[in-house]
Amino acid sequence: MGIDATYVMGNYGQRSLRMERGKGVYLFDSEGRRYLDFTAGIAVCSLGHAHPAVTDAVARQAETLIHCSNLYENVEQNQLATRLAELSGLDRVFFCNSGTEANEAAMKLVRKYFAESAGVNRTEIVSLPGGFHGRTYGALSLTAKPKYQAGFRPLLPDCVTPASYDAVVDCITEATAACFIEVIQGEGGVTPVPVHVLHNIQAKCREVGALLVVDEVQTGVGRTGTFFAYDQLELKPDVVTMAKALANGIPIGALLARGEVAQAFTPGSHGSTFGGNPLAAGVANAVLNVVTSPGFLEHVKEIGMYLGQQLSLLGDDVRGRGLMWGITVPDASAFVAAATRKGILLTAVGEQRVRFVPPLIIERANVDEMVACLSTIS
Ligand SMILES: *Cc1c(COP(=O)(O)O)cnc(C)c1O
Repeated sequence: MGIDATYVMGNYGQRSLRMERGKGVYLFDSEGRRYLDFTAGIAVCSLGHAHPAVTDAVARQAETLIHCSNLYENVEQNQLATRLAELSGLDRVFFCNSGTEANEAAMKLVRKYFAESAGVNRTEIVSLPGGFHGRTYGALSLTAKPKYQAGFRPLLPDCVTPASYDAVVDCITEATAACFIEVIQGEGGVTPVPVHVLHNIQAKCREVGALLVVDEVQTGVGRTGTFFAYDQLELKPDVVTMAKALANGIPIGALLARGEVAQAFTPGSHGSTFGGNPLAAGVANAVLNVVTSPGFLEHVKEIGMYLGQQLSLLGDDVRGRGLMWGITVPDASAFVAAATRKGILLTAVGEQRVRFVPPLIIERANVDEMVACLSTIS
C-alpha cells in the first residue's frame, strides 16, 4: 500500500517532513529527528503534544460516547457553552468544527438578526485589510487577499474591505450588519491592529447600530496572555468566533453571541452534524480546565514577554503579545527552511514575516534553545 502523497490533492504544496509523534513541545519525524515546535499545529496545540489531560479526555469520550448528533443534548456541550458564556460575558453558543465555519455561522447569524429585527435590511459585512477569516465562500469573501481569492469568483456580494485601516470606519454605515475584526492579524503577518483603530470601529458600530464581531480563532484560549485577546482592550463584542486551540487538535469551532443576537438562530435555521459532539466538547472542557487553572495565563504572559525580548536578536519589527509573535526577516521561507534544518519548526506568514506560536506550556529553557539554534542563521 502506498504511503507517499501521490493521491493527496496538491493544495498544500510540497511537504518535506513526515511527522510521526509528539511529546510536549517536541515533534518527531519518521527519521526519528526531534523538532522544537514553535508552530503548535498553527496555534492549535496550546497544551503541546500528548498532554495527559487531553489524552485522558479523548480516551474517556471514546469509551463512553464519541458522537450522538445534535438531535440530542449532551452534557459536555452544555458545560462547554456555559463556560464560554462565563468567560466571554456573552449569552449563547453555537458549535461547529473549524474557524471558517464559525465565521460562516457568524455571517449568517448577523444577517438573520437584521432580517428579523426592526425593519432595516442590513446585509453588508465589513472586514479589515490584512484580515483572515477562512476559506469557505462567506469567510473567503471577508478575506481580501488576492492569493486566497484568485480563481474563486464570484464571491459573496455585500462584503466590503477597504484598502486601509483608517478607511474602515467610513465603510460602516446604516447598511452594515457587522464588522469583523481580529485584534492581532495572525495570518496577516502577526500584526496587532492599532488600538485606536479598533476603538474607532467599535464606536462607529455602536453609532450606526452595526454589530461588532471579533474573530478570536487564532488569538483565543489564552494565546495572548488573557483568555480572549480583546480582554486587554476594552472591546465589547456582540459576537465572537473561536476554533484552533479550543480542543488542542480535536476539530471544534464556536460562535458566541449576545442574547438578543443569538435569538436569530431559531430551530432549523442553522446546524452542523458533528458540531459540539461529546468528543470535541469533552476535550475542549479538559483544555479549559488547564487554561483557566491558577497561574496558567500568568505563565503565558511571563514567558511571552521573555520570548518577545529574545526575538529582537533574530529579526526586526518584533510584534505580538503573549505567545503570539512575528518578526521581519529578508526572506521568510528561507528562514523557516534554515530553522527546520536546525530542528526548530516555524511558519512564514507573508514574504518577510515569520510567526512564533509555540505551545503555551513552553519554558524559558525552550526559548533559549530556539534562540541559540537560530542566532547562527540570521
Ligand atoms: C485559522 C483562522 C481561521 C480559519 O480557521 P480554519 O479552522 O482553518 O477554518 C479564521 N480566522 C482566523 C483569525 C484564523 O487564524
